Order: sequence, then structure tokens, then C-alpha cells
Amino acid sequence: MKAVGGLNLNFLQFGVAILAIIASQHLSHSLRLFDRHKVLRVQPQTEDHVSSLRELLQSWNGALDVWKQSSIPGEEVHVHLGPDAIEDFKSDLTKRSLKFETMIEDTQALIDNEGMCCSEGDEDNFDSCYHTVNEIHDELFRLRKEYPDLVKLVNVGKSYEKQDMLGIEIKQNTPDASERGLVFILCGIHAREWISPATCMYILRQLLESKESDEGVANMVNSFNWFFLPVFNVDGYRFTQEVDRLWRKNRRPILLTGSGKAVGVDLNRNFATENWGLNDCVSKANCETYPGDKPFSEIETQTVAAYLKSRASELVSFFDIHSYSQLWMAPWGNKNGTPAEYNLMRRVMKAGTEAIRSTSGKAFKFGPTYQTIYPAYGITIDYVYDTLGVTHSYTIELRPSDKDDNGFILPACQIIDSGKEIMAAFKAITPIMAENPKRKVKRDRKLRSQ
Ligand SMILES: [Zn+2]
Repeated sequence: MKAVGGLNLNFLQFGVAILAIIASQHLSHSLRLFDRHKVLRVQPQTEDHVSSLRELLQSWNGALDVWKQSSIPGEEVHVHLGPDAIEDFKSDLTKRSLKFETMIEDTQALIDNEGMCCSEGDEDNFDSCYHTVNEIHDELFRLRKEYPDLVKLVNVGKSYEKQDMLGIEIKQNTPDASERGLVFILCGIHAREWISPATCMYILRQLLESKESDEGVANMVNSFNWFFLPVFNVDGYRFTQEVDRLWRKNRRPILLTGSGKAVGVDLNRNFATENWGLNDCVSKANCETYPGDKPFSEIETQTVAAYLKSRASELVSFFDIHSYSQLWMAPWGNKNGTPAEYNLMRRVMKAGTEAIRSTSGKAFKFGPTYQTIYPAYGITIDYVYDTLGVTHSYTIELRPSDKDDNGFILPACQIIDSGKEIMAAFKAITPIMAENPKRKVKRDRKLRSQ
């Protein structure tokens, strides 16, 4: 009896201590809470609906947060709103005959349950938790120690807030490895898309841990060298964990003419591409997709572009991993049309998405960015395709689908499933990418600015 009583007291003390820690964290970091925030699904059915919704969203600039954009009739648009704005926004939708329904009733409730599968302190449990930048970097250092012949760490550069942008290269210690092409996988360019760094970490750990036991993994490591930048937007990612779970951009303060202040540039709109700046947000620094005041205005994009350029002769393939919507997209975002090598790219996207479907049953759509979701100017894959001449240049939007009810707040319980389905895709596409690994595309036109 005494032992049981003691145990109960310990539970009580433990509970009080946890509450005190949670309360102190909220106070010390001014953690932003999203109580009674909602996400609405809007369903524009016609071209007129699409342009009416676009106009409406522009008129609400700064007062709402678009989680999923689309310019295709029949495709959903997801809009996140605070409690003060919901009724007015719904009334605006109704006035424009735009159909909608509630996708998330209480954003904070989702955030509170996000880490449910994660038990801290369990070292074998890395893929059941979302991690801080420091924890991810510590894991990279651990992997280098465990696999010294295969792993090289590369500090690509420093962010605006002087955090390291740490990359990891997996390359066999054999003479022929230097002749192999390089696959570059970039994660976490948008801070709130936590499943992206988590999935990258799953894949790179599998490459190291399963290469002896899994033929498909062995083929990946024998065919290419693999470079991962697990957290591109390190400042934004840290901010999502300490202050605002739904932050997207980097953390550079923007000086506005006149009054007011803004923070952050959308790094995946800041790469130098054709048609850069043809963006609804081009002169609105408070906008979620603010592209900056010129291409490569940000230290993070300059740094990564310089690194990519330094490896351009080896680059066979480039992936920019995002969430959400379950999509696999090719260039271009900056214009309508399909690249000359699209048949080959289509084979890759088809094989990749079929492998995902046969692994988990999840359906991923694929196609050129502009036609599949919306025009997007200044994105990484267009830069890598057009300027660096890399044929296999893709964006993958991970789980969940737009029909699911999680958006960016995917429970950590799904990290392993996301990792497995994307790993299956990489195994399936490796032989196709290896058919002509040095394939480069000659460009006959100079870009406006680089
Ligand atoms: Zn994204």
C-alpha cells in the first residue's frame, strides 16, 4: 500500500511539474496559440470562381493565411483564419457564391496532439518525433561517427540568424564513387512543413542503415552519391518550434517604406528564374509568398545556390521536399508548358507515384507545377532545371492529401509511413535516373538575372 501511495504522489508531483514547465515555456517564448482558429476548404468550381477567390484573398492580405493555394477549377483552396475573421470571411465567400466547409475546427487542438507518438528520451525512436534543428544536427554528427567511411558533413553556410545550414553527403569510399552523379535532396525550405525534414532524416538514415539488407537501398547507394540538406530554413524552423508553429518564411526583418514592419521572405520564391516577381505578393512584405525585393536577396538562397552551382557538374537530380497535398511536380512553375525532356521526367514521376501507391495506398498526382497547382515564380526546381541544366528536378509535396484534415499539422505518428512511401519511390526511380546519369540539358538562352 505504501508503495502504491508513493507512486500516486509521484504521479501528482510529475503532473504539477509538467504543468509548470508548459506554463513557463509559454511565458518565456511567448508561444503563439491558435485557439479557435479554423481552416476552411473553399471549392472554386469554375474559372470565374478561381479569379473571384483570388481577388478576395488579395483583398484580405495579411489577415488570413492560405495553407493550400490553387488556380485550377475543382481544386480546393485551404484558408486558415483567426476567430475574429471567420464570420466576415465566410460572408464574403457566400456573397461570391463560393462553396466552402470547415476542414479544421480548432487549429490549436491539432497542434496539441501533433507529438502524440513521440516519447522523449527514447534514442531508438528518432523517427517517431519531430526534432529541433540542434537535435537534427546532433543526429548528423552521430551518423558521421557511426559511418565514417560513408558520411561527410558539409556546412553549406550560415543563415541570417547565423545558424549553420548543415548538409550530409553519403558517398562510398571506393574509386568509382567519384565518377557517380549526385542526387541533391533539399528539405525544410518552408518552416512549418515539419514532415519534410523528418522524412529526409528517415531516408538518409535508411540509406546508411539498410544498404546491406535491402537490395533497393544498395542500388541507390551504388548508383549515386546522395546529398541532403535536412533543414534549409533553419531560422524559420526554429521559430516554428519556439514561437509560431505556422511560420513559413525566413526570419529577416524587412524594412518597409512608410510605417509598419514585416519579417521574412518566402525562400522558394527568391531564386533567380525567368518571370521572377510575377507574383501577387511582389510588393507586399506581409504576404506569405513575398519573394523579396530582388532574386537572391536572401543569404540562405544565395548560399544554397552557390553550393548547388559548385556541384553542378555532378548533379543528376534535385528534389525539393514540401508538404502538403501529395503531389510530384516538374518544372515549370514560372510558365505554362512542358520541358523538352518531359517524357523522361514523366516516367520518373509515374514510377515514383506508383511505388508510393503500392507501398501505402496513398495517391500522389504528378505533372508540371504550373498546370498541377498554380503559377509559382522564383522556385528552386525551375532554377536548377533552367540554370544548372539538371533534367531531373522535382518538387514533392508530402502527406497529407488535401482531402485529409491535418494540413501542415501531421501527427508525428505518420513520419515513418511518410518516410517508407518516399523511400519506395526513390528505390523505384533510381534505375530510371541511372539510365543516362550525366544527361544535361543545354540552355540556349540567358536568364534575366542570376
Ligand atoms: Zn512548401
